[in-house]
Amino acid sequence: MTAPRFQTTLAGSLPKPSWLADPRTLWPAWRQEGAALAEAKADATLLWLKLQEDAGIDIVTDGEQSRQHFVHGFLEQVEGVDFGRKVKMGIRNNRYDAMVPTVTSDLRLRGRVHQTEARLLRAHTGHKIKFTLPGPMTLIDTLADGFYGDRVKMAFAFARLLNEEARGLEADGVDVIQFDEPAFNVYMDEAVKWGIDALHVAIEGLRCKTAVHICYGYGIEANIRWKQGLGEEWRQYEQVFPALAASRIDQVSLECANSRVPMRLMELLAGKDVLVGVIDVATDTVETPEAVAATIAEARRYVPAERLFPCTNCGMAPMDRTIALAKLHALAAGARLACAPA
Ligand code: ZN
Repeated sequence: MTAPRFQTTLAGSLPKPSWLADPRTLWPAWRQEGAALAEAKADATLLWLKLQEDAGIDIVTDGEQSRQHFVHGFLEQVEGVDFGRKVKMGIRNNRYDAMVPTVTSDLRLRGRVHQTEARLLRAHTGHKIKFTLPGPMTLIDTLADGFYGDRVKMAFAFARLLNEEARGLEADGVDVIQFDEPAFNVYMDEAVKWGIDALHVAIEGLRCKTAVHICYGYGIEANIRWKQGLGEEWRQYEQVFPALAASRIDQVSLECANSRVPMRLMELLAGKDVLVGVIDVATDTVETPEAVAATIAEARRYVPAERLFPCTNCGMAPMDRTIALAKLHALAAGARLACAPA
């Protein structure tokens, strides 16, 4: 019997080259404009595609090179969101302040959001491709409401727009569509009460694989402080996973490496593909392939091999470019090592 070969992937984002945007920044300013910016985004997307393939990543992404931030990249294409009315708001239950735009009227997509980069990827790789979109709950937690007066109603309005874009991405040849819902780890009751229903609206009619990414955030100061206050064991997943196991979402991407999440919580996801975070994005220390393989071996106790996809804990957007690349290599090398016959 041959050992199973794990399919590797990443949560989504990758650092932007310094000729595209300010490096090591979460909301980086673009360093080009107009046609030069569009060109630079496309070049950066192809660069990261090549680097992911060379590193040995199986299911590749656009590295989110065309968006300034994982939420605003989508919002910028939504009519009814006024970026001229930015307000300072505490987000993720006041973990940090962000300058967020305001919803001022009925929401509508101005057009396709990620068609250009999805088609670009599809034209240049035979690998499976994954696209990320912000989840409805995370979206409404990252903007101000000056119109709906009802957060849940607003979330479902966004879910319908996400579905529109997701259907387009599927038609572009995207294999996996992932919704990023870090808010599920903050508002667990609401996630169960309506967050997953909103995701069901977002995936309606899709035949491609669907995923949800739930994490403890980028390796930024505010998140590191937040995590320090979460206690010895992080059990947020425990409240949401049973409902996700019963949902129509195919895959769950979660944080594992260097995390205080008890690994056995993955058992609650029986029947789902599990994208296990084996790369810590909150440290510049590059994992050894052996350490990655050890995390996979531990996860393997709770997730069947055919459902286990080694992945990063979260996006790598604010990281140093060379470190992110080294981590991709460690991820793929560790996954190969994990399935090498003993
Ligand atoms: Zn994340």
